[in-house]
Amino acid sequence: MALYGARKGYNAGLSIGEVNLSRGFHVMAGPCSVESEEQVHRTAEHLAGRGVRILRGGAFKPRTSPYSFQGLGEPGLKLLSDAAARMGMLTVSEVMDVETLPLVAGYIDILQVGARNMQNYSLLKALAKQSKPVLLKRGMAATIEEFLLAAEYVLQGNERVILCERGVRSFDPLTRNMLDLSGVALLREMSHLPVIVDLSHSTGRTDIIAPLARACVALGAEGMMVEVHPEPAAALCDGVQALSFDDASRLLADITPWVALRAKLQADRFPLSLPKRNATAG
Ligand code: PEP
Ligand code: MN
Repeated sequence: MALYGARKGYNAGLSIGEVNLSRGFHVMAGPCSVESEEQVHRTAEHLAGRGVRILRGGAFKPRTSPYSFQGLGEPGLKLLSDAAARMGMLTVSEVMDVETLPLVAGYIDILQVGARNMQNYSLLKALAKQSKPVLLKRGMAATIEEFLLAAEYVLQGNERVILCERGVRSFDPLTRNMLDLSGVALLREMSHLPVIVDLSHSTGRTDIIAPLARACVALGAEGMMVEVHPEPAAALCDGVQALSFDDASRLLADITPWVALRAKLQADRFPLSLPKRNATAG
């Protein structure tokens, strides 16, 4: 039986350090993978200067091919955490297995569970037993119900869960995955948890991120994740979908008035959706 309906009416109001995810629109940005000190420091500096407070970057990478770059491992975690600390940012990075969980949790503020691991129940159970917030990505072909039930595994012992829609497998090669915007709306109706939308892994491209980011703001999502690289063409991973610094600056400037408009509408109690939030039992 789905338990998420049991949390009806409960608003998590998740805060991490000075970042309160239940207010405003939060951007998690940074490279797909941490590659070098220079890369991650330059990226952190650029993003922090434009108001981004959460730096992403993979150190343990779940690559489809074993011949692709697998990440820097612990040195990557350290580089990410040092760059973020210097800029007063929080970090989000993927934890791939139970064995490396203590290591990743020793460096990183928000522990990401990747799409390929959404149903790794031993990892989810281990994450329930520790206190760092968890960003849970939707599996590549997971239904919304399976996604919410995976979140319930972590919620058994750790209330600090963030849901991340990142697109699902589809038939159309023009986008890497199919971004499920109705899924985002449903997650916000069916669960009390903050919802973040990963626009880079869902689209696999840069040219449609801005309109989708506006859509996420309008949908009421708590934030978005995007990949940013100082030199996308030279990236060791996911360069095609990485925003350049100029792209990132433009995107952040583009969404600013939309975020302000949403805040104003919310302050005026303009209903962003019909008043059914948290009312659906599984
Ligand atoms: C990532 O965010 O680095 C990643 C691998 O994404 P996903 O798990 O959504 O494919
Ligand atoms: Mn990536």
